[in-house]
Amino acid sequence: MDKSETKDRVRERIEEKITGFPVCEYAFIRLEEIPFSEKVRYICRTECPRYGKSWSCPPAVGTVEECRRRCLAFEGGFIFTTVSEGADLENMDAMLAMRTDHEKITRQIVKIFREEYEKVQAFSTESCAICEKCSYPDAPCRHPDHMLPSVEGQGILVTELAESHDITFLNGSDVVTWFSLILYSGQRQEACPDSKESI
Ligand code: SF4
Repeated sequence: MDKSETKDRVRERIEEKITGFPVCEYAFIRLEEIPFSEKVRYICRTECPRYGKSWSCPPAVGTVEECRRRCLAFEGGFIFTTVSEGADLENMDAMLAMRTDHEKITRQIVKIFREEYEKVQAFSTESCAICEKCSYPDAPCRHPDHMLPSVEGQGILVTELAESHDITFLNGSDVVTWFSLILYSGQRQEACPDSKESI
């Protein structure tokens, strides 16, 4: 079986498992398609109240160039969205609960990728909110294996990336679209179909 055939089978397996989750839209992407921009970092720095307050956001995540290099060290990417309908944008607790649901799905999808790849890194919408108060910058992150860095914090133009794969970002005035990016590399060995017979 050649490499592209194996890749197709891996994707098929992943896609089959993902049908079990309330994922709205998804796409496999090539890493060179990810648009990194200093403009995103400028917006983080000048407009986001989470800038400099979390391990999941800049400047803790490094420069845009460092983020770009780290991302490009993987082999492929996967983007997906989930939506929350009937969102009350003024109700922060309700919004946080909706976002927590998206992050749970992201972690479950990460597990699916880990079954196929040695190295997997996920990024999710907005700043990490696991702890009531982030330990940044006084102590290390309390949950480094659980924390999902912000995709925007990497300097990625999320809407441009989504639109280039026909993923809809605006789904209605009371609908929030949550976005995640998963990077992966190092495909695990496929079990040989004849191995059982030869034992
Ligand atoms: S897990 Fe806690 S310490 Fe780590 S980034 Fe999130 S809020 Fe900060």
